[in-house]
Amino acid sequence: MKLLSVIVPCYNEQENVIDFYNEIGKTREFFSSNDVDIEIIYVNDGSKDKTAELAKKLHETDEKVHLIDFSRNFGKEAGIYAGLKKAKGDFVVVMDCDLQDPPALLPKMYKAIVDEGYDSVATRRVNRKGEPPIRSFFARMFYKLINKMSKTEIVDGARDYRLMTRQFVDAILSLEEYNRFSKGIFGWVGFKTKWLEFENIERAKGETKWSFWKLFIYALDGITAFSTVPLAFASVLGVLFCVLAFVFIIFIIVRKIIFGDPTSGWPSLVCIISLISGVQLFCLGIVGQYLSKTYLEVKKRPMFIVKEEI
Ligand code: UDP
Ligand code: MG
Repeated sequence: MKLLSVIVPCYNEQENVIDFYNEIGKTREFFSSNDVDIEIIYVNDGSKDKTAELAKKLHETDEKVHLIDFSRNFGKEAGIYAGLKKAKGDFVVVMDCDLQDPPALLPKMYKAIVDEGYDSVATRRVNRKGEPPIRSFFARMFYKLINKMSKTEIVDGARDYRLMTRQFVDAILSLEEYNRFSKGIFGWVGFKTKWLEFENIERAKGETKWSFWKLFIYALDGITAFSTVPLAFASVLGVLFCVLAFVFIIFIIVRKIIFGDPTSGWPSLVCIISLISGVQLFCLGIVGQYLSKTYLEVKKRPMFIVKEEI
């Protein structure tokens, strides 16, 4: 018998905990006919409602339901990490509690791994129906920006809903960095991933737990976790300033030769200021380069991940 671990990060999801359990139940038949048992790991991320109590109740009737109860709200990323660490399954799937990640896709995802030899099956929504337009706009901008700045591919519309093999999960856990951005980490570890697409489904009950501000901070986390381009920004600006200063100096010298120097002092002052600020910014950029190397060292990401050795 194989085991499938379902990881569900929950934050104030009392309306959805039971429904989620029931929906997963509908796939039980398929999985047991394939000799796969299902365990559900609810990660209660410091909910202020009855989420934890309900999960505990489920555990009393079904010992395959587990609960990791955080002492406070640590964020969804922490929830995913905690779940992945605890999961014992040969296959692991991360799902939202609000049924926006349709459990009906699970059999298809499972088949892609077992029959087609994929290491993970990821999902992306093809539209953002039902989402405020302003939020969709900024989300799109974010994906454009981060894909320009980072070598790791981060797919627009990708959800955290992903079925993985044990090997894939172990690879993810080998990245022990504190500032986790799963959408990037999933891409970073490599392996063969199949993408399934589905139409956006609106949240079953309750409200989204992500305010615009929280998403904005999350976007910044994503950029700083997977790109050191911002640190090189100062260098570029510095070089620009230096070039500008040189052009200016030449212009002033020529003007002085032809027209004399009517307001003595200020042209040279402007040149000196722009030149020095250019040099300063450039030096800041150099510091940035060393800082980015140190940053990458500190993360202690593995240098490579082996898929197979013969
Ligand atoms: N979530 C969490 N901790 C948080 C915020 C959200 O564990 O601090 C969970 C939440 O309970 C849900 C999932 O992460 O299961 C996705 O959150 P939500 O549905 O609110 O996000 P959206 O789908 O609106 O992007
Ligand atoms: Mg949701």
